[in-house]
Amino acid sequence: MYERVILRLVKKKIENEVKEEVKPGKGILLGNESFTIKTYESNLDYMLIQKIGFPEVYKYKGPIKIIENDLNSYCEWHNGPLEEADDPSKRFYCPVMSEGFCSKHKRSERAIYNLCLSYRGEKSLEACKEIDNKIKGGEYVVYLVDFGEDLPKVGTTRKFRILERIAEQPHIIATQIYVTDSLYKARLMEINISKNKLANELWRHKWIQTESLYNSLVRMKNYIEKISKKFDISREAEFFRIKQPKINYIQGNIENKELEIKGVWGGYLILYSSNYYIYRESQLLHKDSIFIENKII
Ligand SMILES: [Zn+2]
Repeated sequence: MYERVILRLVKKKIENEVKEEVKPGKGILLGNESFTIKTYESNLDYMLIQKIGFPEVYKYKGPIKIIENDLNSYCEWHNGPLEEADDPSKRFYCPVMSEGFCSKHKRSERAIYNLCLSYRGEKSLEACKEIDNKIKGGEYVVYLVDFGEDLPKVGTTRKFRILERIAEQPHIIATQIYVTDSLYKARLMEINISKNKLANELWRHKWIQTESLYNSLVRMKNYIEKISKKFDISREAEFFRIKQPKINYIQGNIENKELEIKGVWGGYLILYSSNYYIYRESQLLHKDSIFIENKII
């Protein structure tokens, strides 16, 4: 028996931290220094699912079927705290059908926090100030991720979420460049870095090649030097990454296939049914987008 449910979160375990020494490989002409980085693996902890019409959520790890058509979106509000990590399975999610936030939750702290992070320009900064006034003792991080393009991507997140946030994005290497107790200051820094064309706020989510680690580190060091000079921030840059699993995936129709979740990386689910497939988490979240087997853990 399969049941159609709302997917709220793909909870990851980010584990097995190892320190790696990265040296220039043969044939590399750029520099000859070596870098020490922290490498992690990400694995599926569980999927947080909600039954349609009810606020409770449950952990689920079994096989799924993905629904691609006629999806309904549900309000993204839940009662978990913004300022610290919580146990997602103890949350209540709003059961109302809505894009983004429903009318009742449009002015909730969580909606304003999302406005601060997702809107561009002044409007977003007003929302950030509002969060600073409401939440005392928050810690925010501005990070850079290199994904092999000319410019890195710059982003802001809550400090306790940094590894999870990086795990949601395809990357070769990542680093924190600025830590502050003000969400407004963090977003302003992010916007200014982007305005000065030292990194991009926007990017296209795609599966990437991550083999050229050394080149990525050299590039990242270069970006950091420019940014620190421009904005007078000095930080000993610590590089880290979540290692991409080596898989040969195919692109094909997955409709009605019973899929096992073999892993998670870069905001993708790694699915298996005779072949490997990848699927963007964000296309499924807050929607009645999956069928699960009728057993909950
Ligand atoms: Zn709502």
